[in-house]
Amino acid sequence: MTAGSVPIEAPRLGEPYLLTPGPLTTSYPVKQAMLRDWGSWDAEFRAMTQQMRDRLLALLGPGSEDFDCVPMQGSGTFSVEAMLGSFIPRDGKALVLANGAYGQRAALTLAYLGRDYVLLDKGDYLPPRGFEVAQILADDPAISHVVAIHCETSSGILNPVAEISEATYAAGRKLLIDSMSAFGAIALEADQIRFEALVSSANKCIEGVPGFGFIIARKSELQAAEGNSNSLSLDVHAQWAHMNKTGQWRFTPPTHVVAAFLEALRAHELEGGVAARGARYGQNRDVLVAGMRELGFETLLTQRWLSPIIVTFFCPADPNFSFERFYALMKQRGFIIYPGKLTVADSFRVGCIGQMDGAVMRQVVAAAGETLAQMGVAEATPPALALEERQ
Ligand SMILES: *Cc1c(COP(=O)(O)O)cnc(C)c1O
Repeated sequence: MTAGSVPIEAPRLGEPYLLTPGPLTTSYPVKQAMLRDWGSWDAEFRAMTQQMRDRLLALLGPGSEDFDCVPMQGSGTFSVEAMLGSFIPRDGKALVLANGAYGQRAALTLAYLGRDYVLLDKGDYLPPRGFEVAQILADDPAISHVVAIHCETSSGILNPVAEISEATYAAGRKLLIDSMSAFGAIALEADQIRFEALVSSANKCIEGVPGFGFIIARKSELQAAEGNSNSLSLDVHAQWAHMNKTGQWRFTPPTHVVAAFLEALRAHELEGGVAARGARYGQNRDVLVAGMRELGFETLLTQRWLSPIIVTFFCPADPNFSFERFYALMKQRGFIIYPGKLTVADSFRVGCIGQMDGAVMRQVVAAAGETLAQMGVAEATPPALALEERQ
């Protein structure tokens, strides 16, 4: 049971917990909601799409009436590409704030789209700060948009979007946010943090299954986006206009995934919304980090930037440790962990999102301790060099 007193669903027998930031462990009712076929043109499915859009918008809190929600087929990256290509005009220029793989991917997307951009690359574990954004914008008046990653899932760092937003609008520019792994668990309220558009997807903090993403954008930006996109299928304006006119998606929607997502949204509300979801994930992280530290593991990030979404740990220095073996033995114990994505030090990641609570995280820590013993690793302390890199 969690703070919100909503019971957590254990996976079915033999199914491991996914300690990965999407796909993640979903509840049985979410899976069960997929056991029915829906006609994409039918009034019932159109109503489901509308209900989903309304529920997602409501998560923005007060001020949400200036925004609209546009679902988009594909994985989260498709929605990021759709957002960048639809809201940055062809003669626009972006400042991409990167501190990991997803920031790098946003820059690569802009290169594919033929949009001009500059990159602020902070490496693996440092956040882009408001004063840095202010400086770059002051030096380059051609920049029209800032692209920020809310939670950089490759390290788990929670980036300071509030100060980034302040710097962006103080300079008269516009902010686009990849909130993929944060939306639904970390508040991003329209009346608190100014932005033009954000993206997230079905299989992150709302705890649905993979199959689509969604763009939440200011209505004025949606209107102005007509003709910007150089992709037919990823044109957010076209999808929005068609959906508002007909209630339908332009091309075949992932009907079962939408049905499952609606179930996930109901559970999200029942749990207590964004605050309760974030509190449960925060508790997951606290239990995990405390337990792993007791085993000698160290986190990549200092406490201040640790997100409640996913945590990166350094691999132990002990020569008996190998990530492949650790992974396989953890899986035997019912937990699928995630390889690291750092450039410098060896690491692995453990996700805190999905149908899990503190009790499950205690089992994860116990499994890690048993696995270390099985591997003959006496202490999980990382190499001194890895810690020196960190600040
Ligand atoms: C998951 C994620 C994405 C999208 O990844 P897909 O594999 O395309 O779903 C984008 N940005 C961030 C920060 C993410 O966590």
